[in-house]
This record gives sequence, C-alpha cells and structure tokens, in this order.
Amino acid sequence: MNEFVEKLYHTGDLTDNELKLLIESGTADNLAEYADEVRQKHYGKKVFLRGLIEISSYCKNDCYYCGIRRSNKSAERYRLDYHDVMNCAEIGYSLGLHTFVMQGGEDMALDDDYICGIIYALKEKYPDCAVTLSLGERSYESYKRLKEAGADRYLLRHESADCDLYYRLHPHGMSLENRKQCLYNLRELGYQVGAGFMVGVPYQTTENIISDIRFMQELQPQMIGIGPFIPHKDTPFRDEKGGTLELTLRLLGILRLMFPQVLLPATTALGSISPIGRTLGLKTGCNVIMPNISPEDVRKKYMLYNNKLISGGETAEGLEILRREIESAGYEIAKERGDCIK
Ligand code: SAH
Repeated sequence: MNEFVEKLYHTGDLTDNELKLLIESGTADNLAEYADEVRQKHYGKKVFLRGLIEISSYCKNDCYYCGIRRSNKSAERYRLDYHDVMNCAEIGYSLGLHTFVMQGGEDMALDDDYICGIIYALKEKYPDCAVTLSLGERSYESYKRLKEAGADRYLLRHESADCDLYYRLHPHGMSLENRKQCLYNLRELGYQVGAGFMVGVPYQTTENIISDIRFMQELQPQMIGIGPFIPHKDTPFRDEKGGTLELTLRLLGILRLMFPQVLLPATTALGSISPIGRTLGLKTGCNVIMPNISPEDVRKKYMLYNNKLISGGETAEGLEILRREIESAGYEIAKERGDCIK
C-alpha cells in the first residue's frame, strides 16, 4: 500500500480503485507518518481548541442513528438561554479558547433573533474569537442573517453523499439534496464550511465512503468532521455495530493527504471509543480538538450516542488534562483563533 500512500502524498488524489484498496488495507504502511508530515508542513505542531456549547437537545428530526432524535421519548430535553451561553463563553475564554461552537438539534425555538442576539453579544465581548454554528439545516435567509450578525463558520456534516445510504439513515422528509444545497448556500454566504460523515454507520460500504470523499473534493470545505458511528440504545440502530478506531484513523490520514490545509478535528466520538483515540488522531493528521464547555448538568442530556466522552475543557483542571494529552503526543495548543489557511 505504500505506493498508494506515496502517490496520494505527491499528487493529492487516487483513482476510485486505488482509494478502495488503500481504505480497505490494514495499517501496515506509512500513512500516519505522511499525514503528520503534511499537517506539520501547513500547521506546524499547533492544535486549535474549539469550545463546544451544546445549546439545545430538542430536535424536530428523526435521524435513525442519533440519540436526540424526536422519537426518543427517554431523551431529556433542555435549551440553554442567553445567559447560560454567555456564562459558558466566559469560562471558555478565561481558559484561553478562541472559538465558540454552538451546536444543537434542529430546535424550532432557536429562531434567528435568538441566535443573532447571542452572536452579537459574543462578538462584541470577544472580538478576537470566532463564532461557529452547527444548528442543522436552515433557510438561505436564515443563514444570511446569522452571517450578518457575525457568525464565521458553520459545521453541517453531509452525513452521506450517496442517496441510497442517506435514505437508510434518515426518514423521508429529510433530503440529501437539501443538505447539499445548505452547504453550497453557506459557502456562497462566505462562511468557513465544515462537512463530514460518520465512519462505520450501518449499511455503509467503501464505495459510499469514496462518494463522500468525492463530494468533499467538489465542495472543498475548510473543515472536515468524521468520527466513528456509536450506537445509542434508544434508536433504531441500537443493535448495530459501531465504527472502528482503525478505519477512522485510516480515513483521517487519507483526508489529510487529500486536503492538506483542512481543519480536521480528532472528534469526541473518536475519544469515546478509545482512551487514546484523540492522541492517535492527532498523530494521523488531526489538528483540532473540541473540548466541551456546556454546563455540567446538561452534558448527560446531549447524548448523541452511548458512552459519550463527558470530560471536557470547562474547568482549568479539565483543560490541563487535555493540554497534557496534546503535549505528550508532541503537539502544542495554539493561541490564535485558528482559521483555515486557504
Ligand atoms: N443538528 C446538527 C448537529 C447534529 S449533532 C446538524 O444537523 O448538523 C453532530 C453530529 O453528530 C452529526 O452530524 C452526526 O454526524 C454525529 N452523530 C449523531 N449521532 C451519532 C452517533 N450515534 N454516533 C456518532 N456520531 C453521531
């Protein structure tokens, strides 16, 4: 497989066939070393931290994989108010974070006025920080208003670029076409955009993963979020197998070589399936970690999947543990807000 890794490193691309062989092969090659070299060439040893604020666990959607899907009657629902969010940000800022990510279910109560009010306040109080949103699919007009209020980035995983798989993961009523359109709208409006998908989600084939990669080559997102699928006990996928550490790392390495300048998080899901998942991610091309700065009492309620890593960065102590994790992997926490360099 080393020849494919070399080719990918030198040319940034492979044929579908070559990609398939590389994805499906074991780890007995130098993919991680090459991915790390490329990451260091562009971003040095820097790791950018993003303070994740889980703003609401209400959701109108019913994605088959997700623990906060509408039909999950056992999910406890909450919504943070303006003061809660500002408190999270204050703690995050005092710990040195320079990006706040507001993520939530598609909660109808999170209307434009409400979110814009928070964005204004965050930008006014922390002009040196970036505001990232991850609030699902909204109208062009809504994205426009949020951008005008000062939002910088938007994370919206496309989940699957293959129509058949998309509909096996989502009930009818949600559409891949709309999801893709949202990503194009966000890009047109000047957001730094993040796409991505889950690794090892039920029914996913290598061909599906190649479609995801091809879609992202077309979109050219500034951020790519991938993490292993982890079953949640109150969803239709409760008995399905989860995605593996090996395949996730393999894909992270491939993505780093294909998208040399992308911001690539070692995700919470990766850290949830293995205590060294995030460290291995950093060593395989990742350069972002998103510590959780949501209030302690809501963490358990934002359960997208079982055994979600609860620890985070909301306390000086939590951040210190994270710092040690990053430094012992040979990297360092960046001080700046960490925009994509392209
Ligand atoms: N409503 C927002 C945020 C969704 S939660 C949106 O639509 O973008 C963020 C991500 O968590 C999702 O995009 C999905 O890829 C991931 N996720 C959801 N359930 C998961 C599970 N069971 N295992 C792993 N990741 C999951």
